[in-house]
Amino acid sequence: MRIECIAIGTELLTTRRLDTNSVWLGERLAAMGLRFQRKTAVGDNREDLAELFHEALVRSDLILTTGGLGPTFDDFTKELLAEILGADLLEDAGSRADMLAFYAARKRVPAPSNFKQALLPVGAEPLRNPVGTAPGVWWQDPPGHPGSLIVMMPGVPREMKRMWEEQVEPRLQQQARQAVHTLRMVVCGVPESTLDERIREVRERHGHLDWSILASLTQVELLVRSGEPASLADVVADLKPLLGDDLACIGNGNLEDAVLERLRARGQTLAVAESMTGGLVASRLTAIPGASRSFLGGATVYSPVAKTVLLGLPAAFLLDHGTVSEATTLALAEAARTALGATWGLAVTGNAGPAAEGDAPIGTVYLAVAGPAGSFAIGRLLPGDRQDIQLRAAAAALDFLRRQILG
Ligand code: AMP
Ligand code: MG
Repeated sequence: MRIECIAIGTELLTTRRLDTNSVWLGERLAAMGLRFQRKTAVGDNREDLAELFHEALVRSDLILTTGGLGPTFDDFTKELLAEILGADLLEDAGSRADMLAFYAARKRVPAPSNFKQALLPVGAEPLRNPVGTAPGVWWQDPPGHPGSLIVMMPGVPREMKRMWEEQVEPRLQQQARQAVHTLRMVVCGVPESTLDERIREVRERHGHLDWSILASLTQVELLVRSGEPASLADVVADLKPLLGDDLACIGNGNLEDAVLERLRARGQTLAVAESMTGGLVASRLTAIPGASRSFLGGATVYSPVAKTVLLGLPAAFLLDHGTVSEATTLALAEAARTALGATWGLAVTGNAGPAAEGDAPIGTVYLAVAGPAGSFAIGRLLPGDRQDIQLRAAAAALDFLRRQILG
């Protein structure tokens, strides 16, 4: 489905107002597995708007407009589209009644110009506006464009959002349910190119589906789209054995969801000790509602004194082993686990730069997990600047824990 957004209003072409509507709409579409092919901002100018509408009607299946539905001389989105498509405008009794009620509730009378807002192109349906006077328009299969859909919404962001949430999205979702299904798989600990290589054979076998790979700093997402839920189920069955433990989750979640889900399913708990990540691991976990059922808490033990006072690591031990070391990280994981009586203790130490610290080069990270079957640690050298290294270390820690829980 080719979707385009047309944001209408001369003010959007200046620095006076940003087109935030299309950004918000883009996010909502993304949540439905859809996206814009094109976005345009255009002024309140008949010629420019007419030209754009003519183009959009040819190239897009769904046209979303915001703005130009108001009562004043410079609002003519609906009138212009009706003219282009050769449709008459008729007053919609429901919209007129809504408008009169809106004014009556505020003890005001509508101006004569307000009544044009109740006009509707023949063949279109009104979208009620519970927070303003300009109704929207849902125009399916407009004259000469079977299969197309035009949705006109008010420019006022509050009114547009409410109309989208309550009326437009539910209708689109119903149509999308019949159209496109998305499979999302989150893969951790594997570079994008390696993953691409590993799944190539399966991707080619299901080559008629729409595949994409999205790599970010900390994970790789595999997205597969199809009109047939059954063909996505076949893809899952083929990929699962190939991905093994590298597959963190299927669906909308991320690493932290996968970790919490595993803990919850086993009735287990977690405590953390974070040095170089400064609480990033705890922050990712606590962003998930209900995390407290499995995540007990932890300590940000950034300095040697915090490691000693909060988690009881003897100063002599730290001097012997250094603050960035496998032994220290293991001891921190064990101390966090013991302090909170948790099933698992997770610890991170490292050097995120910008200066080298002792004999630990920038990017050095140690991860340790203490659990029912003993304690395990790994060392890593992570690339990037300070923030990259910290984000990567937090993700690597969650992933290391996830794999330890899996056994
Ligand atoms: P209109 O529906 O064109 O009368 O616009 C009503 C109000 O909404 C005006 O204050 C506009 O500046 C604002 N507005 C219109 N379009 C947008 C947009 N795309 N993003 C943010 N605000 C907008
Ligand atoms: Mg306007």
